[in-house]
Amino acid sequence: MKKRSRLSALLVLLTVCLVFVGCGSKKESGTIDAIKARGKVIAGVKYDTKLFGLKDPASGKVEGFDIDIAKALAKKIFGDETKVELKEVTSKTRIPLLQNGDIDLIIATMTITEERKEQVDFSDVYFKAGQSLLVKKGSEIQGLQDLKKGVKVLTVKGSTSAKNIREKAPDANVLEFENYQDAFTALKAGQGEVLTTDNAILLGMQQQDPNYVLVGGNFTDEPYGIAVKKGDVDFVAQVNDLLKEMKSSGEYDKLYEQWMGVKPE
Ligand code: GLU
Repeated sequence: MKKRSRLSALLVLLTVCLVFVGCGSKKESGTIDAIKARGKVIAGVKYDTKLFGLKDPASGKVEGFDIDIAKALAKKIFGDETKVELKEVTSKTRIPLLQNGDIDLIIATMTITEERKEQVDFSDVYFKAGQSLLVKKGSEIQGLQDLKKGVKVLTVKGSTSAKNIREKAPDANVLEFENYQDAFTALKAGQGEVLTTDNAILLGMQQQDPNYVLVGGNFTDEPYGIAVKKGDVDFVAQVNDLLKEMKSSGEYDKLYEQWMGVKPE
């Protein structure tokens, strides 16, 4: 009898241990430790998006609002904004690269959506965009109502823009490219009449070529978040702290105005 109760006590203890181990392994953690051990942050950023992350082929420099947030994170962790390695992501590759461990986080014009929340965790909103249309000056296309059958609309693989436009203009012919510079080159080459994505990205294209204009207003909400591996609550908290610090110190407003040319709302 004594033996049996000792055995059951042992079993209870074993079960408790297993439950703890099980719970522990479910929580993804340690990005911040990995960053500290490595001595730098690896940020997945765009190389194709003026104002947010654009690589200048002549200098090799990558610049934009998202890039400056990545540098600010390096400064927060290491006291040195150069302790960041930038890795190119596209809308299609960013989630797989994060999940593979190739990058620590995504700072790349990424809209927070319920669907994406199943795969990654997001920070608080750090930028508010909305989907719009870019056309050549003088185009007959002035809004969603003009995206009729036969109209070719250009956009990018893996973006919310591609998904949304199929819902909003189901008759249009949607063509998807690997990145935004390819899509814009195609628009300029006449491979389509319209390019659609977030207004802020389209504004960057308009700056690159003022023969193109935004039309049709904003027809979606695209709140941008910084994405980290699902379950890494410690790292999300660090990133949210950074955003709060940047807002209260005025650094966020300064960067916003520097890149967007206007003050944040
Ligand atoms: N914000 C939209 C998205 O997350 C469009 C911009 C992009 O493709 O990164 O899909």
